Amino acid sequence: MAWNSPKVGILGGGQLGRMLTESANRLNIEVHVLDAANAPAKQISAHDNHTIGHFNDQESVQELAKTCDVVTAEIEHVNTYALEAVASQVKVEPSWQSIRIIQNKYDQKKHLSKYDIPMADYRELVENTPEELAKVGEYLGYPMMLKSKTLAYDGRGNYPVKSKEDIPDALEALKDRPLYAEKWAHFKMELAVMVVKTKDSVLSYPTVETVQEDSICKLVYAPARNVSDAINKKAQELARNAVAAFDGKGVFGVEMFLLEDDSILLCEIASRVHNSGHYTIEGCEHALSIPNASIHLYSKGGARPGRKMGHITVTGATMYEAETDIQPLIDLVDKIRA
Ligand code: ATP
Ligand code: MG
Ligand code: MG
Repeated sequence: MAWNSPKVGILGGGQLGRMLTESANRLNIEVHVLDAANAPAKQISAHDNHTIGHFNDQESVQELAKTCDVVTAEIEHVNTYALEAVASQVKVEPSWQSIRIIQNKYDQKKHLSKYDIPMADYRELVENTPEELAKVGEYLGYPMMLKSKTLAYDGRGNYPVKSKEDIPDALEALKDRPLYAEKWAHFKMELAVMVVKTKDSVLSYPTVETVQEDSICKLVYAPARNVSDAINKKAQELARNAVAAFDGKGVFGVEMFLLEDDSILLCEIASRVHNSGHYTIEGCEHALSIPNASIHLYSKGGARPGRKMGHITVTGATMYEAETDIQPLIDLVDKIRA
């Protein structure tokens, strides 16, 4: 946590960008947000270095890149050509190549197939005609899930095709988008894992259970209910392997299906922080090497001896525990001041 931390640009300043900014604020990391003037993330970060514009607009991305050292995104549906264009000026994390592959769910699956990541079988559509979808249906069986390759979120872009009779309605809903179809995953539960990819490692949070209603995540249980240690570990391993298939650093949300026979299939990856990871804000206390310690840095600028630059709170079940945990920090600060 250097005092002169790199300036981080975020494409998009919605709720995910806001939560990222909240965490960055505590660490003295200045976040520059590209979004509309009063976007949620901008509301909690008062300075003049934000960019007004849209994450799909090449010029806005260029403008943002000029103000920061590293650029990331709170959403995968960004203009990766704009990111490619600024990649020589500024670090882009994860890489624009990774975001480009991940934002197209069909390309994402094709890429992950090369790394032996288990997934529901799938088939591309090229013509989006009833005849073509009927052929795909014969191959994948019914029900199957017709999916838009791009710009999918909250299930908008999915159409469950329960039988041949659904083909006209499914195409009516989606035929103007690039499509593929997936074999139905008869899951008993949906799982998710937050994965953090650093310079040289891929780390995972514990497996959570997600409950979707109408394809929208409604509830997250952390830890997943009635899931054995072995499945928890297996899901984390699958998630880490999937994320390892992509370049660049960042946080990734990995969604999975747990089937009746306890095998696990990957559903999709998001190249960003994810709603199945919201619980980590309150639920995970292992953000620092000292447990139960939270750091608050004030972003005051230049440090002078005696100037209050931040504080650390240590909590414990007993005073003895809290004192024991805080002692190494006191020793460190005393050493710096000596
Ligand atoms: P998100 O908001 O998570 O980005 P999305 O629009 O990209 O959603 P998916 O994650 O692919 O869509 O699917 C949404 C939900 O639809 C899944 O969580 C699952 O409940 C259901 N679903 C998706 N694919 C399948 C499948 N092959 N078989 C059964 N159910 C599926
Ligand atoms: Mg998605
Ligand atoms: Mg999803």
